[in-house]
Amino acid sequence: MAGIPLLDFVLDSAFGFPFQTFLSMPRWPLKRGSLTTMPTKNPACPCGSAHAYAACCGRWHGGPSHLRAPDAHALMRSRYSAFVLDLTDYLRDTWHPSTRPADIEPSPPGLKWLGLTVKRHEIQDATHATVEFVARTRWQGRGERLHETSRFVLEEDRWFYVDGDIHDCHPTR
Ligand SMILES: [Zn+2]
Repeated sequence: MAGIPLLDFVLDSAFGFPFQTFLSMPRWPLKRGSLTTMPTKNPACPCGSAHAYAACCGRWHGGPSHLRAPDAHALMRSRYSAFVLDLTDYLRDTWHPSTRPADIEPSPPGLKWLGLTVKRHEIQDATHATVEFVARTRWQGRGERLHETSRFVLEEDRWFYVDGDIHDCHPTR
């Protein structure tokens, strides 16, 4: 797949929005994961870190450090990338059992992930942290901007997403 711009890959593998707005929507037709179409030559990480995927979120998605994101910020970025890449198993395994949905649905077909901006990473104590972020998507010609603060907890050396407060979720141009 060398030579295919990552951006096209990301857009083509558009994925359901993880957040409450989409979770509350009806089930979408299933879309197969697109990881097999991933370019193998140092693709940039979907989280927008400017690092290669394998050296960024890819470390936590698989391999010897699978599920071992070292802090809430890294876990948050890896979950965003997992949404982009349709890695529903990873989303389930990093979602705290107390708040995890019974089923994690793929995104609605055609949803495009436009980017992630992490605004703040606050550590409350050794096992609790929050991450404030803005994620932008486009679906059916309409842009949406989600501004949320997510809560994370560390249990048995693994960080989990618990839940979040939405500050703002509104259409964009
Ligand atoms: Zn990343």
